[in-house]
Parts: sequence; structure tokens; C-alpha cells
Amino acid sequence: MKLIDGKMTAAAIKEEIKAEVEQMIEAGMKRPHLAAVLVGHDGGSEAYVKNKVIACEKCGFKSSLIRLEENTTEEELLDCIRQLNEDADVDGFIVQLPLPKHINEQKVINTIDYRKDVDGIHPMNAGRMALGLPSFISATPLGIITLMKRYNIPTSGKKCVVLGRSNIVGKPMAQLMLQKEHGDATVTICHSHSTTLKQECLEADIIIAAIGRPNFVTADMVKDGAIVIDVGTTRVADPTAKNGYRLNGDVKFDEVAPKCEYITPVPGGVGPMTICSLMKNTLSAAKKEIYE
Ligand code: NAP
Repeated sequence: MKLIDGKMTAAAIKEEIKAEVEQMIEAGMKRPHLAAVLVGHDGGSEAYVKNKVIACEKCGFKSSLIRLEENTTEEELLDCIRQLNEDADVDGFIVQLPLPKHINEQKVINTIDYRKDVDGIHPMNAGRMALGLPSFISATPLGIITLMKRYNIPTSGKKCVVLGRSNIVGKPMAQLMLQKEHGDATVTICHSHSTTLKQECLEADIIIAAIGRPNFVTADMVKDGAIVIDVGTTRVADPTAKNGYRLNGDVKFDEVAPKCEYITPVPGGVGPMTICSLMKNTLSAAKKEIYE
């Protein structure tokens, strides 16, 4: 069994990005600028945004954090997005999800200028990605593809099962694994109404679990020599941990790991790669690599 070290890989990629940014500055270009909008004070979202700001510093990017109160109206948030769309200094921005219930999430996403949508969630980017056209790719799936490439994990022609069909992880992940220039695999997607989930997993060369159910994937669902990518990050109470909780993956690591050729840990696997991909997308936006 080999452990896929997302933390180390992400750190190496951020160093590469930093070196590229230094070259850009020397060549007289402006510093890439990522903005983040955080509505309310959800603990998880606060932590994610903080990590994104730290990653910007590591990459030599400028970052801005726009904090709006929980009771911000939909129109106020849309106005904020329109301002970011117009701000020539901002190369890309994210709106941290989930949003408070009184705000229509899809309306917010649709208002983001797709040329600045470094999270790859605007229909323009999601659609172009599905067609295999240049686009900003959702950060988590992009991070997983990058991780597999860096570890030279062969995916072409393999049977890949994706657990979960969300718009930000499961669906784009399955699309990327399917596309010839990325995974080139035979792909099955399972969700909460799949009746053959266990059999599908047992036949899979690659399992990508993104359902948010701690310890869901057990050893009896995994064939010997499989590659297992664990996207799940559920906070579970742990009185021995500093914050009173720990992050738990979707995979029962202790019993599944011995059967795998490769496996990602939680934490330290997919999570750091997600933030790293957001940085990559921001760099692409600053360099206008995808859209003019
Ligand atoms: P989501 O929007 O809640 O989607 C979960 C998906 O899993 C849904 O498609 C759901 O099926 C499916 N599902 C739920 N329970 C299931 C079950 N018992 N059997 C089979 N399928 C089941 O979640 P998400 O945003 O995709 O995130 C998934 C997990 O990844 C979460 O733990 C999240 O915290 C984590 N995550 C991690 C990162 C990272 O950087 N590491 C980034 C994003 C998300 P239905 O469609 O039928 O409801």
C-alpha cells in the first residue's frame, strides 16, 4: 500500500506557482489577485476561507476577503458580485458555499462573471468542462486528477466508480475521469438511490468517494490492488482533539488501506489539493489562459 501525500504534493505545486508569479512580476505583469466572499460565520467556511488566504500568501498572490453578515440580502450579495466582476484588479473570486438559506445559490453562481469563476461552478464553465473545452475546472476534481498524474497512476481503460453526484465534486469528477485527455476511464456514478453500489465498488480499479458519510467504504467493498481516493471530510466529535472534533473521511481507512495499491488519507489527501487547484485556476485567470 502506498499513501498519496496530498499535503506534500500541494506544497510542491504552490512553490512552482510562486516561482511563476515571481517571473510574472519581473516581466512587469501585475500580481494575481483572488478575492473571497464569506457570508455569515459558519465555522467550517471560516476555516476554508482562512486556508485559501494563507495559500494565496504562499503563492505570492494578492488576496481580499469580503465579509458580509448572515442577514445580508440576496440583492446586496449580487451587488457585491457585480462589483467584483467589474474590478479590473481582481483576476478571480469565490463565493464560499453554503450560503444562508434566504439566498438563492444558483442565482448567485449565475451572476459571477464566468471569466473570473475560479471555482468552476458557473454553468458556462461546468458546461464547457463537460464538453472538453477549455474552462475553469472545479477545484476538488482538478486536484484529484492532478494528484493521480503526479503519482503516475494509470487510469486509461480502468473501471472507475465515483460515489456522489454533487455539482461541485461527483459530477465533474466523473466527467474528468471519462474524458480521453484526463482519466480516459470507464466510469460509473453511484448515489443514494443506487441499488448496486457495493457490487460496482467491488469491481472498481479506482474508487472516488465523495458522499460525506464517515467510514462508508469498508474493506468488503474494495478489491485487492484498488486505488481509493477519499474526498469525504465530515467533522466528527473527538474530545481528544484540540478543537473538539476531527475530520473523518468516507473510507474506513484502517481496514481498507491494506487492500489498496494507493490510497489518500484524511486529512492530508484531497483537501490540500483542492486549495492548490484554486490557486492554479487563479494563476490561469491572471494569465488569461482560458478566456481573454
Ligand atoms: P453533497 O452535495 O452532500 O453530495 C453528496 C452526494 O453523496 C449526493 O450525490 C448523495 O446522493 C450521495 N450520497 C449521500 N449518502 C449516500 C449513501 N449512503 N450512498 C450513496 N450515495 C450517497 O456533498 P459534496 O459537496 O459533494 O461533498 C461530499 C463530501 O466531500 C463531503 O464530506 C464534503 O465535506 C467533502 N468535500 C471535500 C472537499 C475537499 O477538499 N476535501 C471538497 C468538497 C467536498 P443523492 O444525490 O442521491 O442525494
